Amino acid sequence: MLQLKKIKKSYKTGDFIQHALKGIDLEFRKNEFVAILGPSGSGKTTLLNIIGGLDRYDSGDLIINGKSTKKFKQSDWDAYRNNSIGFIFQSYNLISHISVLENVEMGMTLSGMNAKKRHKKALELLKKVGLKEHAHKKPNQLSGGQMQRVAIARALANDPDIILADEPTGALDTKTSTQIMELITEIAKDKLVIMVTHNPELANVYANRIVEFRDGELIDDSNPLDSDKEENTYNIKKTSMNYLTALKLSFNNIKTKKGRTLITAFASSIGIIGIALILSLSNGFKLQIDKFEKDTLSQAPIIISKQSMDMQQMTNIVQEDDYLIEYPTDEVIHPQKTVETMIHINKITKEYMDKIRSIDSNKIGGIAFQRATNLNLITKINGKTKQLGQNISIVPTPSTLDNKQARVVKDNFEVIYGELTEKKEDLVLLVDSKNRVSESLLKELGFEQENINFKDIVGKEFKLILNNDYYKKIGEFYTVNTDLEKLYESNNVITLKISAIMRGKEGSDFAKMSGSGLMYNNSLTDYIIEKNNQSDIVKSQKEKDYNILTTSPFKNDDEKETMLSYLGAETSPIMISIYPSDFDSKDEILKVLDDYNEGKSDEDKIIYIDEAKLITTMSGNIMDAITIVLIAFSAISLVVSSIMIGIITYISVLERTKEIGILRALGARKKDITRVFNAETFIIGLTSGTLGLLIAKILTFPANRIIEKLTELKDVAKLNPKHALILLIISILLTVIGGFIPAKIAAKKDPVEALRTE
Ligand code: ADP
Ligand code: MG
Repeated sequence: MLQLKKIKKSYKTGDFIQHALKGIDLEFRKNEFVAILGPSGSGKTTLLNIIGGLDRYDSGDLIINGKSTKKFKQSDWDAYRNNSIGFIFQSYNLISHISVLENVEMGMTLSGMNAKKRHKKALELLKKVGLKEHAHKKPNQLSGGQMQRVAIARALANDPDIILADEPTGALDTKTSTQIMELITEIAKDKLVIMVTHNPELANVYANRIVEFRDGELIDDSNPLDSDKEENTYNIKKTSMNYLTALKLSFNNIKTKKGRTLITAFASSIGIIGIALILSLSNGFKLQIDKFEKDTLSQAPIIISKQSMDMQQMTNIVQEDDYLIEYPTDEVIHPQKTVETMIHINKITKEYMDKIRSIDSNKIGGIAFQRATNLNLITKINGKTKQLGQNISIVPTPSTLDNKQARVVKDNFEVIYGELTEKKEDLVLLVDSKNRVSESLLKELGFEQENINFKDIVGKEFKLILNNDYYKKIGEFYTVNTDLEKLYESNNVITLKISAIMRGKEGSDFAKMSGSGLMYNNSLTDYIIEKNNQSDIVKSQKEKDYNILTTSPFKNDDEKETMLSYLGAETSPIMISIYPSDFDSKDEILKVLDDYNEGKSDEDKIIYIDEAKLITTMSGNIMDAITIVLIAFSAISLVVSSIMIGIITYISVLERTKEIGILRALGARKKDITRVFNAETFIIGLTSGTLGLLIAKILTFPANRIIEKLTELKDVAKLNPKHALILLIISILLTVIGGFIPAKIAAKKDPVEALRTE
């Protein structure tokens, strides 16, 4: 069943070569109790280790069930140890941090037996060695004899064919020794037991074959066996420790050093705390910026004006300046781009207007079209008729496309007097937060006193004169009708009146930006243009290439167009302000506008200005930069803790060397050992990550207090759950990486040496 052929083994220490086995030929029966006697240092342990697959022979062959082991791979040896061999050591070699029961189960665990089955088996074995009631104790709560019984139970767990016992009674008193020998004899009934002993009496009483060793040589064999041909019946199941076992083993080990683990975890969590805090702050600030943007800036209009700055050109020019740092050596002159080249004339075509009208009106909170059309307004002040000067600014109120009252107005302003209507004849006076209106506007309206009552202003009437009444034809030219009295009473005039006073709502930043002034409905200009476009003066002007009022000839087409707009011919607005209804709508509106530019030449492109975006991208970018710098600093502490974990794991490897040896003796693969230590670092990483996040979470409370005191912003620091998860994973990864090399070192440990350590 087991055959040694000229097995040689020597150890080299420095220049000295110790021949521990000098060519051993020995054959064992399937079922016998062999005692190996010999003085210390004669090679007995070496022989057992080689038979048990813990150590490798230098030359010769070990034949198991007819199969040569010369070509055995590491995994074959591991499986062989696990399936066929049960070891019993002089010093018991139990794993101290797991229970007696779990020690007995370990070999079965490694061979992949399910929990219920191995549990039952382990209890049976413990009953057999008389320790059933001690199953849940830790090994160090037992006496020496009891520990050796546990070791015997463990050796029997996988029903091995061979039991190898190395001086199993060496550390026990005579009485206990006898009991252990009885037990071993009992199990030897159907197995091959090879026992090394110092004690010839014990050997004589219990063994049925005695083999004697001296100086690495076999000198006597009481019952030798003639080699008989054996069939190759070797067949063995490979072992594998699953991750859960590795975790459990490490978890139990960690439990025995809670304090140290916790301190380690805390120390390595500092990096995580730092990064988590920085992330919560930057995340919080970003949320605040977003909120600010959503609340206020999204209401800032997208402005399309006839003359626009080409931002792209501008940055190009600035960048060009930056890059031309070297003094030129060639004799070439370059044309320099000037500010004029940055001015882009937006050709607001009918197609563009249609595009704007095609935008879903739900996306638009308000829209205002400003026209160059002159409003011919006259009013009566103290009984005297007076034309209103051009210096009063009168702007369109934002309306939605279908002319319902604009959301942007409702959200940001309130009517403090009068009534806001949608009639084209009704004007609105917008006052600022202190009820102020510019002095010049009031003067123009005929109010020169210090305080003007709301009721005096609301109801104030104006007459809007259409072109056909306002301009008189004189020959080829036109002139303004100066008979204001008559015009005021004319039937064709439109009577406008101030119907309401509006003021920004408290807290509306948008209203603050709006200032004060007189506002009209979009429908008013629509109406005027419709009428004036048909007027005689417009018709005449269209045909002439000179200014029909001043008689001076036009220098170019632009001049003529400007004049026509002034007279109210249907031309495009000079400025369009689109107020998105909310944050998301804005993107959709911009998409439509960008869509228009798609494929157009630079000249025909329409450039819009999105101020909100300019502001927020800037502040967002600054936040990002600061965050990255701070995270980089904290990351250093993460690396440091990763190295620390490496050292701690290495210490743990040193401490658990014996355990590594035991596990290997029970058939654990190198991989399994790596797993055990990776599991340990995994647990530390998980603990430190969780701890770090927890502490960071707690720290956000005082941090928010301080921020609130400084900036009046509430609940700024907020940890994004996604960030938390990423940090946890990073923490685990870094610790596992830190512990990886020590875990590899652990796996490489020679099991024989590992077992020898104390
Ligand atoms: P025994 O168990 O019979 O007392 P061993 O098999 O342990 O003897 O040792 C046989 C010889 O090999 C001894 O001289 C011992 O010093 C030597 N030896 C055993 N293991 C090693 C080792 N790892 N390195 C060097 N020498 C060793
Ligand atoms: Mg020995």
